[in-house]
Formats: sequence, C-alpha cells, structure tokens
Amino acid sequence: MRTATQAIHAAAPARQPGAPLTPSLVAATSFHADPDAIGFSATELGEEAPPFYTRWGSPTISLLEQRLAALEGGEAALAFASGMAAATGLMLHRLSPGDHLLVSDVCYAGVAEFARDTLARYGVGVTAVNFSDISAVAAAIRPQTKLLHVETPANPILRLSDIAALAELAHRHGAELSVDSTMATPIATRPLALGADWVIHSLTKYICGHGDALGGAVIGRAGAIGALRKEALIHYGAAISPFAAWLILRGLETLPARMALHESNARAVAQYLEGHPRISRVYWPGLESHPQHELARRQMRNFSGMVSFVAEDDKALARQLAARMKVVSYAVSLGKTQSLLFHIPAEDILRSSFQLEGAQAEAYRAWTGSGTFRFSVGLEDPADLIADLEQALAG
Ligand SMILES: *Cc1c(COP(=O)(O)O)cnc(C)c1O
Repeated sequence: MRTATQAIHAAAPARQPGAPLTPSLVAATSFHADPDAIGFSATELGEEAPPFYTRWGSPTISLLEQRLAALEGGEAALAFASGMAAATGLMLHRLSPGDHLLVSDVCYAGVAEFARDTLARYGVGVTAVNFSDISAVAAAIRPQTKLLHVETPANPILRLSDIAALAELAHRHGAELSVDSTMATPIATRPLALGADWVIHSLTKYICGHGDALGGAVIGRAGAIGALRKEALIHYGAAISPFAAWLILRGLETLPARMALHESNARAVAQYLEGHPRISRVYWPGLESHPQHELARRQMRNFSGMVSFVAEDDKALARQLAARMKVVSYAVSLGKTQSLLFHIPAEDILRSSFQLEGAQAEAYRAWTGSGTFRFSVGLEDPADLIADLEQALAG
C-alpha cells in the first residue's frame, strides 16, 4: 500500500459481515484474562499477548500503533499520552547514569529542559550541540555517548539536520539516533529509512491535525519497542487514552491530504511574507532562500506547513498582530486546521529553555535576530490568510 492508502487502511481489522468500517473506540481499562496465559508483572508480558490492561495496550491504541509503524516504515510503534511522554520515556529507557546524550541545541523547549535539568540530575551527561553542523556533532561525541537526539525541522526556527549523516556518525561510534519528526511528519520524511534508530512524534500536532487530542509515539525495531513498552509505558505509566487514540486515528486518515494543502498554503504565505517590507527574513524549507534548501529537497518529500519569520521591532509587532488578526490565531501549538502564530523572543528562549552562550547563542541570533515568529499555516483559503496578514501587518 502507498502512503495515502496506509493512512486509511493499514492494519484494519478483518472484513466480515457486520464488522464496522471505522476504528472501534474500546474504552475498557481491563479485559477478560486467561489464568494460565499471563502473569501479573509487565516483565512476563508476551509480545503477542491479548489485551489485558489498557496501560499495557488496548485494541484502539494498538490500531493506532500499527498504522503509525506502517506510515514510518518501522517494525513497531508505541503510543504515549503526549509527545513529551514519548521523548522522556525513550530517554529514560535508553540512558543510565554515566551515559552521555547529545541533544540538538535548538529543539522543543520541554525536551531541551528535560535533558539538561532532569537527566543531568540522574547522572546522565548531556551536551547540547548544533546538529546542523556535523563536525560540531562529531567533536562532541564521547566514548560514553549512547544517544543522539535531533529535531528536524527544529522547533521553532526551522533549522534542518542531515539525518543520514547523523545516523552514520552515531553508528560509527556505537550510539543510536533518535529523530523528533513532529514537524516533518511521515509524509515528508522517513527517518528510519535514512538510518535513524528511533522516530518520535508529538501526535498532538499534524498527525491528529485538529487540535483536540494529546498524544505521542515512538517508532522503531520490534524488539526494542517491546522493551520500551515494558519500561517506559507500563512502569512510567504515560499511556494514551483510547479516546485520544481514536481521535488521532480519525485525523490520521486525512494526514496525506492535509499535508499537501498545508504545504501549498505555506508556500503561498511564505512567498507573500518574503515580499513584505516589514519582514526581514522568512524561513520555510521549500523556499530557495532557505539556507538548507538543498538538504530539504534531499530529505523532505513535503516541505510541511511551518513557516518562521523575522521582523524589526518584533515585540511590538507581536502585540499588533495578536490584536488585529481575525483569521490567524495568536496561540501556541501547531499542525492543526486553524492557522496559529506565536512570537518567541530570542533572549528569553536562549536564557530559559536553551541556556546557550557564546558561538551557539550567536548562531541562534544570526538565524533569527531578536525573535522568531512561528507560523503554523492552517487549511484556510490562502487568499484569506494573506488578506488577514496584510491588514494586520499594515502601518
Ligand atoms: C509539541 C512538540 C513536542 C511535545 O509534544 P506534546 O504532545 O505537546 O507533549 C515535542 N516535539 C516537538 C517538535 C513538538 O512540536
């Protein structure tokens, strides 16, 4: 099956008269059990065991996992209650005291803070490095390095990293590569095919697509996902609710169609913003002016719907846009039907989430000036989006 078909049909239950055509929402928290087949401990859970308790797995969640694995071209997937639960679950599972983690110096703020504050407290060495600079990543690798974690495109500035090159580097040093592919989605990029060991998604964003459910997932090899299920899901406990999984399955059916529209709307908006006198720089991987457009063409089959831009007097402009926009909403999150715009001042995020100094802070400022406007271009008519921006940016 090709991608658009997989999003609707992968792992669908058997066709038989009377069987529903759409995924069933199984809300049950526990299931009739065979007294001989299963013990009470997660360590005795067989890979093929029938549903037992929903924190361990359930039919609606399992369908979501199988469909995500198919879309990413992975052997197995594990769903979590949120993208943060997926990322922290994987990191706590793979890293022990004395191990070393290399994390992208620009990535989702929660992941950056978790790595630096929490993992360090548990004795894991953590180094934040610019993952778009392969030689900087190579120089930061230590004998104890177990995991490289990258986000591409990176939230919020849409800087890209070369997954194939990073996977080769990681494996040469006996480490693993995890890729947060939330902004790319499996429609744009298949990190596993490029050599990554793990793919992480916040399902809350494009995969759900409607802004009404939180979820996360990790996709990888079957044995490794089985081990992750036992520790990071059953013991840490951040299981997704079946209702959220059901909403996300519903959103997933239209992911390929939505991504095509997100991309074409983003192209229209990015081109409009590039020509606007108040905007000094626009970043969208599909623009020829994106500093890594060549890499984007190699690594992304869809340039996604995220645009970021830079303007003079950005704090005042953020207030003006928030007050005047009537179609676009001034709000966080991304990847939903509605367009969302949010301003992230450089000094604030450099101080709070990233804690970057010296050359790394300079590289961030060189990219984004005094702040980034992160624009999740939605599915409205692009002419209405542009008209809304035109009146909100005026004067
Ligand atoms: C939103 C986001 C996360 C966190 O996901 P939640 O579902 O909000 O917990 C992680 N990574 C990226 C790139 C994100 O955009």
